[in-house]
Amino acid sequence: MRTALVPTMGALHNGHLRLVEMGLRTADRVVTTIFVNPQQFAPGEDLDAYPRTEKSDVEKLRAAGVHLIFAPPLLEMYQEGFCTSVSTAGPAKAGLEDKSRPHFFEGVTTVVAKLFIAAGCDYAMFGEKDFQQLKVVTKMARDLSIPTSVIGVPTVRADDGLALASRNAYLSEEQRSIAPMLHQTLQHLATDIRNGKNMTRACSAAKKTLKQNGFKTDYVEIRVAETLEPVKSVPEAELRILAAAWLGKTRLIDNIAV
Ligand code: AMP
Repeated sequence: MRTALVPTMGALHNGHLRLVEMGLRTADRVVTTIFVNPQQFAPGEDLDAYPRTEKSDVEKLRAAGVHLIFAPPLLEMYQEGFCTSVSTAGPAKAGLEDKSRPHFFEGVTTVVAKLFIAAGCDYAMFGEKDFQQLKVVTKMARDLSIPTSVIGVPTVRADDGLALASRNAYLSEEQRSIAPMLHQTLQHLATDIRNGKNMTRACSAAKKTLKQNGFKTDYVEIRVAETLEPVKSVPEAELRILAAAWLGKTRLIDNIAV
């Protein structure tokens, strides 16, 4: 009997449900976890405001055919005196999400390692939407010899291209109408790169477009997809464009293949 784990922070949308669907195709049993992990939020981030919709989450997961839901209270994950964490490097220090959220991946890998070990799962489904996280978690499982295969699932988008995300709930109506520009800008950038444009100049142009449309950009980067290292010479490797930008008080992230 093979088991797939789908770790989430709840506030479930069709992106999460796609992970469940892929889990059901990959394994005989799917376990979904719902846990808003305080360790991956820095002081001043949105831990308290993070949307919590546990009742409807459970209904959605039941309808999707999940076999087990694990939604532990805080103390079950972090008993008093908890003081151990996973230390990460490599893709976790790529200078992308980690640049503005320096403790994020330590928090993520610690809770994910605990969940992998507790669940003893054969597979774990992670979204490409959080591309750096997918790479970090894959490496963590391999490096720590945890026998769980991490499987990446392509990003689920709204019809207008916006990547589905629990934090999209923070967007005002006006911001929601601007938000798909992030994906569109990355698509233009990918086309430019495929057409042989200079990467630095093309990234600067993308940032300018985002700024003109009201985004405050954290980063727009082109990286080697597998390792997230910067692209040094003319690449044989597959490339990935990754971006993060603020729209008002909402931080959006997205990425696409070149
Ligand atoms: P979260 O609840 O935001 O921590 O996400 C839980 C899992 O769902 C992570 O593996 C995410 O990458 C994945 N996920 C979130 N949004 C999407 C999406 N739009 N498409 C695919 N996977 C997603």
